[in-house]
Amino acid sequence: MTTVPDTAPGTANPLIAPTAEGHRRVLTGDRPTGPLHLGHYFGTLQNRVQLQLQDIELMIVIADYQVITDRDRADRVAEHAENLVLDYLAAGVDPDRATIFTHSAVPALNQLMLPFLSLISVAELSRNPTVKDEITHSRQAAVSGLMFTYPVHQAADLLFCKADLVPVGQDQLPHLEITRTIARRFNDRYTPLFPEPQALLSEAPLLLGIDAGKMSKSRGNAITLGADEDETARLLRGAVTDNDRHISYDPATRSGVSNLVLLIALCQGRDPHAVAEEIGSGGAARLKRTATEAVNEHLRPLRARRTELAADRALLREVLHSGNARANAIADRTLAEVRTAMGTF
Ligand code: ATP
Ligand code: MG
Repeated sequence: MTTVPDTAPGTANPLIAPTAEGHRRVLTGDRPTGPLHLGHYFGTLQNRVQLQLQDIELMIVIADYQVITDRDRADRVAEHAENLVLDYLAAGVDPDRATIFTHSAVPALNQLMLPFLSLISVAELSRNPTVKDEITHSRQAAVSGLMFTYPVHQAADLLFCKADLVPVGQDQLPHLEITRTIARRFNDRYTPLFPEPQALLSEAPLLLGIDAGKMSKSRGNAITLGADEDETARLLRGAVTDNDRHISYDPATRSGVSNLVLLIALCQGRDPHAVAEEIGSGGAARLKRTATEAVNEHLRPLRARRTELAADRALLREVLHSGNARANAIADRTLAEVRTAMGTF
């Protein structure tokens, strides 16, 4: 695990040694746009589970309002939300200690968003590189106001529960910078209420999909946690590599090949250079075979748990139901503090 330390906005975030010490509450989340994939698992989900094991309180937001940033309708959103819960539990999140909730069930989040919007400029929102990338991949002809402002909604997600640590992938760093700016400005303008949350990156802050672009639920390039072993093999056989038979780990110049090497290394808990050396001149075919075996082996227990849990839809709904109740109680309390700080009724 690697934390990103305090830095002034706009400056590079030098990575520092792993530590979760001193942190009290973790919040992170996912859009209910489809099942979780290896990018989620190695990018943030493993860290969520590890932090929970260290007794740090874990909150997970299922960001259903965020689905309609880049498409007109949120299709099968309730089903996707339940399946996210399934993936979390299969990966080891303890539902008795975590608060898992949906955006749309916590109205106070939307009320927090309004004062937060006043604390950030249009120019700052328009500069966000992740939003620009999402616009490029968007299914919509026109860019909605929600696309530009959802990072502020995300600030409400983090600040309502005063989360101080956020295990995320690299694409979330610009959003987190917006949250930190909003927290700082609120504290300066009104009353010090909010911590400035820190990002926690993993060893795989940007896992690539089989097309060598960011692995994403919505881009048809993902290997999902729930995929079966044959499907995993089929997808990995189609992964983009290159013509050089000698396998090396060089993410800057050989992104597709290096991503598969990294995947093997993550599954086997090894150094990627050692993995590349072992495959040597075995070429892409051997690389893909090894990756398939490594992924299937690593995920076998998770997938078995997932199959068992999938039978109990009532449990998944109950986890969301109680998470929503708890999130509402926390959000109402924070909203009352914000109103007092601002002197409103
Ligand atoms: P969508 O395509 O619908 O946006 P997504 O795959 O990008 O889906 P999100 O729900 O947007 O997933 O992201 C949830 C969390 O997972 C975020 O913290 C994000 O940084 C992390 N994440 C997503 N994709 C990756 C990836 N390829 N590598 C590492 N982390 C990732
Ligand atoms: Mg995304």
